[in-house]
Amino acid sequence: MLDEVTGFAVDVCRLDPRGRRKAKLIQGKPTPANYYLEDRRYDGVIFIGQHAMAGTKDGILSHSQSFSVQGIYLNGKPVGEMGQMAAIAGYFGIPVIMLSGDEAACREMLAMQPKAETVAVKRLAGKASSLSLSHPEACARIRAAARRAVERIRDFSAWKIDGPVELKFEYYPEAPGTPAPALTRDDRSVAAKTVIYRGRTVLEAYEAWLGK
Ligand SMILES: [Zn+2]
Repeated sequence: MLDEVTGFAVDVCRLDPRGRRKAKLIQGKPTPANYYLEDRRYDGVIFIGQHAMAGTKDGILSHSQSFSVQGIYLNGKPVGEMGQMAAIAGYFGIPVIMLSGDEAACREMLAMQPKAETVAVKRLAGKASSLSLSHPEACARIRAAARRAVERIRDFSAWKIDGPVELKFEYYPEAPGTPAPALTRDDRSVAAKTVIYRGRTVLEAYEAWLGK
């Protein structure tokens, strides 16, 4: 299990030690370019607590890596955090199989992996408010969906991207860390800052970005 965002969201005391491969936990930064996916350490990828990509209007806290990023494109295709994970997992032959998060994140997942199991545990209810399931209800739905996804893991295929690969970041023109809502639509179109990373493969493009 990878606790990616804070490194403190998952309680190691609650990992399930049963089963053939016994659950283990990865915490800490920085995330390497291979996202710890080498050697087929995982059979499939399940996202828990994921949000939609930067610019998603009805997403809760939608962003891509940071709130200073306007958009990320893999060979021209817009990708959020889940798309980036799917691409690097696909490089290692690992499919994404399930996502739990807000409604907008579930929609983004299904656009990318239509067969995926999704569980929307919350949705935007106002400008900056959310409507959530109860914790027990959310947990029950997530457990059931995870079981279904794992039981039919052979239904899923990995996202294979033929090289060469271009990974493009567009930043808001304001200083890094400026929240997106502070910018007007016109500001965004005038002067997005662009950074491009290239590689013969997805992994090489990620290494150009994150280092080897
Ligand atoms: Zn994020």
